[in-house]
Amino acid sequence: MVKYIEKEFKTIINKMKYIDSWFWCRYTLNPYNGCEHACIYCDARSEKYYLHPDLDNEIIVKKNVKKKLDNRLKNARTLLPDVVATGGVCDAYQPAEIKYQNTRQILEVLFKYKYPVCISTKSDLVLRDLDILSKIADDTYCTLSFTITTFDDEIAKFLEPHATLPLKRIEALKKIKEEFPKIQTGVNLMPIVPYIEDSDENLDEIILKTKEANCDFILFSPGMTMRDS
Ligand code: SF4
Repeated sequence: MVKYIEKEFKTIINKMKYIDSWFWCRYTLNPYNGCEHACIYCDARSEKYYLHPDLDNEIIVKKNVKKKLDNRLKNARTLLPDVVATGGVCDAYQPAEIKYQNTRQILEVLFKYKYPVCISTKSDLVLRDLDILSKIADDTYCTLSFTITTFDDEIAKFLEPHATLPLKRIEALKKIKEEFPKIQTGVNLMPIVPYIEDSDENLDEIILKTKEANCDFILFSPGMTMRDS
């Protein structure tokens, strides 16, 4: 049983020293701490990110995100508008978002202050927010990608037990591109779990389906991070 814990946080948005070369963002912002998708390869388990140890079952919900972010951006002198990546370490569209809508509230503020966004997710719940994402795309820039590393349901369920199944993710990308062509869409082809996902057939299928969905890019990383945990 997953437990949600609402908590105040001091920092609402992080400015990076350098623009991230993978996700092209200057800022990162995580609406939740912990991730119910519970992927077995999740890099967020590494000590490097200072998350709590039971991150699959205990989701910390950041309180008052809308007010906090609005105050922070309203008074910002050093935070010039630039790409904000949400949910880089903990998926911004995990099930907690259905109830708390932290991500949606954050997007409303980012739109207000004209900050472009970069969203990576494994949940088709993101479709709920296409109204606001398309406005951000019209106004500045919006890129939206799904991680897809297999189309085999059994393997996907084993690796990413509570995420949307990959076929639904690619269908969502197709729909987004058809309805809102200004949103830049893509597939994060990573991590590739050795011996399970590294066959030519698997990689070819993902590349082909990404092309058929008219995506703009594939972000490819041939391997997986092997840190602690
Ligand atoms: S969706 Fe991302 S953050 Fe969530 S458990 Fe999976 S890899 Fe980790």
